[in-house]
Amino acid sequence: MLLRLSPPRALRNPRILSMATPSRQSSRFQARAVTTLAVEASGSPRKRKRASDDTLDGAQSETGKKLGPKRTCQPKPEAIYIIPDVSPKKTTFKGRLGYACLNTVLRNKKPAKDSIFCSRTCRLDSIKKNGIDWVKDLGRQNVQDLLTMIQWNEDNNIKFMRMSSEMFPFASHAVHGYSLEYCAPLLARVGELAKKLDHRLTAHPGQYTQLGSPKAEVVQASVRELAYHSEMMDRMGLGVDSVMIIHGGGMYDDKNATLGRIKKTITEVLSPGVRARLVLENDEMCYNAEDLLPLCEELDVPLVFDYHHDALFPSSITPSEIIRRANAIWDRRGIKPKQHLSEARPGAVTLMERRAHADRCESLPVDLPDNMGMWKVPLHAAIFDSSCSDLMIEAKDKEQAVLHLYRIYGLHPVIHASLRPPNEDQTKETKGRKSTKKQRMSKEDGE
Ligand SMILES: [Zn+2]
Repeated sequence: MLLRLSPPRALRNPRILSMATPSRQSSRFQARAVTTLAVEASGSPRKRKRASDDTLDGAQSETGKKLGPKRTCQPKPEAIYIIPDVSPKKTTFKGRLGYACLNTVLRNKKPAKDSIFCSRTCRLDSIKKNGIDWVKDLGRQNVQDLLTMIQWNEDNNIKFMRMSSEMFPFASHAVHGYSLEYCAPLLARVGELAKKLDHRLTAHPGQYTQLGSPKAEVVQASVRELAYHSEMMDRMGLGVDSVMIIHGGGMYDDKNATLGRIKKTITEVLSPGVRARLVLENDEMCYNAEDLLPLCEELDVPLVFDYHHDALFPSSITPSEIIRRANAIWDRRGIKPKQHLSEARPGAVTLMERRAHADRCESLPVDLPDNMGMWKVPLHAAIFDSSCSDLMIEAKDKEQAVLHLYRIYGLHPVIHASLRPPNEDQTKETKGRKSTKKQRMSKEDGE
């Protein structure tokens, strides 16, 4: 059912009016505020569809059946979104904000064939059914779409992102694994674009990457997974800042013994190329920053400090001290430091609830260094500015969470057509089972 709002009514409606009044709104959006709106009364509160300027189109939509086959030929009306204003805050932080794996604007493009994303994957059965070339073609499409995502980021003042760990489905599989040689030219194009735009690409291999497992086959699979990510980055020609981040993994009833096995795998099994890109990150259940720092310092493996994980599983040392020690490692290695930021969902109480990432972040951490403390500008300083610090925003709303912080802190101008409103029901999603679609989207998150 469609509800028609005439322009004067639309302007009297405070939600719709709000999009025309905030100082940050572009003239384009002000113009949209006075267009005729067709509101989907039974649909999502997040999205309003604008009827065509042609009144007939609106009438057709209401009557439905009169449209006939012609309707399929007509482009869908451009969606219009009501973007709430933000409460401005101040910061001295001058670093860059990035997001992980999925761009919600590009992913949700309609029709579905226009959707842009890098995590096309399949079940093992599909390899047997469709053949390995079909699977490899999914990888090619993923890489093709990565080019579009990087350009979108550039157009929206975003300079770094994490690549999906599913770019090449089953590439590291013991039986069905394959070389990325077939995709070499396209991977090189990604690297050239990233380099041209000074875009940092990182990776976060999945939770099954367990360097400290007591099972040899698990360690072997983990090493293959890291090697695949490393090959992808090498074929892109990415530099030292393109790191692969993993957690400590399981504790297997003995944390110290497991840390010993992680050390052994890093020093004795990983190839120099893989080890050069390896970074560890504190998690919220098994290994906090304090558990990992001694190993990281001993082996010169950088540590990504995750604020959310530290809040859930704190160390006895402060975030500032952890960051100071972590940045000393990044510094020694000549790699640009990075950290992770996310927040618990509003109203989250139990540990399990607090583990879930909020849709967006409302604040930058108070102890976030303006330029990552000890970080010094190395020889290749010409390619990035001296206030180098990268903060990965690990929020469900992905690029929207970055743009949200841009607006709150005035970090960069935003294109209003790129903004989407926050989900009004986010607290409900911490309860109950996820639907299949949500599970899939969560997998695409790559967190
Ligand atoms: Zn993280």
